[in-house]
Amino acid sequence: KIVSRFAPSPTGYLHIGGARTALFSWLLARSSGGKFLLRIEDTDRERSTQEATDAIIDSMQWLGLEHDGEIVFQSTRADRHNEVIDQLIENGHAYYCQCSKEEVDAMREKAMKEGRKPKYDGSCRAKGLTEGVVRLKAPEEGHTGFVDMVKGPINVENVEMDDMILRRSDGSPTYNLAVVVDDHDMGINTVLRGDDHVNNTPRQILIYRAMGWDVPQFGHVPMILGPDKKKLSKRHGALSVMEYEKMGYLPEAVCNYLARLGWSHGDQELFTMDEMIELFSTDNLGKSPSVFDLTKFEWVNGQYMQKADPEYLAGLLCEFLDREGAEPVDKALFAQIAPLLQPRAKSIVDMLEQSRPFIVKSDFLPYDEKAVKKFLTEESKPLLEEIAERIEAMDEYTEKALEDVHRQFLEDKDIKFKVIAQPIRVAIVGKTQSPGLFETMMVLGKEETLARMKRAVE
Ligand code: GLU
Repeated sequence: KIVSRFAPSPTGYLHIGGARTALFSWLLARSSGGKFLLRIEDTDRERSTQEATDAIIDSMQWLGLEHDGEIVFQSTRADRHNEVIDQLIENGHAYYCQCSKEEVDAMREKAMKEGRKPKYDGSCRAKGLTEGVVRLKAPEEGHTGFVDMVKGPINVENVEMDDMILRRSDGSPTYNLAVVVDDHDMGINTVLRGDDHVNNTPRQILIYRAMGWDVPQFGHVPMILGPDKKKLSKRHGALSVMEYEKMGYLPEAVCNYLARLGWSHGDQELFTMDEMIELFSTDNLGKSPSVFDLTKFEWVNGQYMQKADPEYLAGLLCEFLDREGAEPVDKALFAQIAPLLQPRAKSIVDMLEQSRPFIVKSDFLPYDEKAVKKFLTEESKPLLEEIAERIEAMDEYTEKALEDVHRQFLEDKDIKFKVIAQPIRVAIVGKTQSPGLFETMMVLGKEETLARMKRAVE
């Protein structure tokens, strides 16, 4: 069973790229019935913030990427990291070094001049020092390789590997050391992370080997590019997950779109979470960078809006309205409105906008002036008045009955529906777009429909 993790550094919000890495790791764990753990890599005290930590946790919760067990905070584990470093010194895999920065720079320059890879020359290895920085003894021959779950086999000649620093002169453990110790202690057997870490992996493997620990399987996911094939920028949608939430995207749609950024299953575009869990495998992860496509993202979200349960949308509409500080609206009313707007609404925000005409009382209904000028004319007003009279006289106010009343009216007047459709629409919703007229009239109710028609002809 896979035990995977997501290990963000809390130096900013959770962006699309990080969220996708988290989703892939989560899917791996869930698809094997394993565990998905969360570790906050907050050792960089200057750049890490509580705000970012909270935002990452909130974003993951919103996406539904629940983690197992307690969150591990890397900064709390320095003692354990140092314990491992001490063990490495004891077992002869690490040593103290007191070379100055200038000395190390000179070694690197020398190596470069001789056409070798710049690296520390290991001159403190045999000195038996008892203080200074601590370095790992990298093997001098052979190679270190692994089969990347995404990229395939990767091999690095050991001569190319530096005796990396494990503990700095101020006593703090370095990044690679901390990651390995934490992944080992957390029982991680599968590490899926961004491409930018692929060069760290051989070094981390050396630490696993030096400790005699099992090496996890690794996978490195290519980055996400903007439509211009450059690093994804804000302008092209590199927003934080919570910004999409604020724009009214549905979390299921965000997960679906993110999954398809780099992963495929034939040419299927829409997947439920359960389907993704069932079908996800690193075999179908693309090797080349994915291109972020905001238009497609919007389309995916629209598809989820169409299929969503109206009750669920109604709950979200209430929430969004509440955030505006507006008067609350009965959830049941939203649940009635939602199905009318679902075929067209792109997002919750969009749906809320479109539902305004339904949730205001007639006296506050805003009228689009252009539409009023064009459709509430001297010719149309008398017709509207007459229709209103007929609606008022209805015993039974149903969609079917409304249809009948209108059909009869058109017959009596010998006019086409389009002569009155837009005038009625503008009269009852204040603008030229709305869901079907009779559906709209049903949601508004008889009284409100009549109030609006009367107000429009005044
Ligand atoms: N903390 C690293 C990052 O945010 C991830 C390290 C890892 O996944 O191993 O880029």
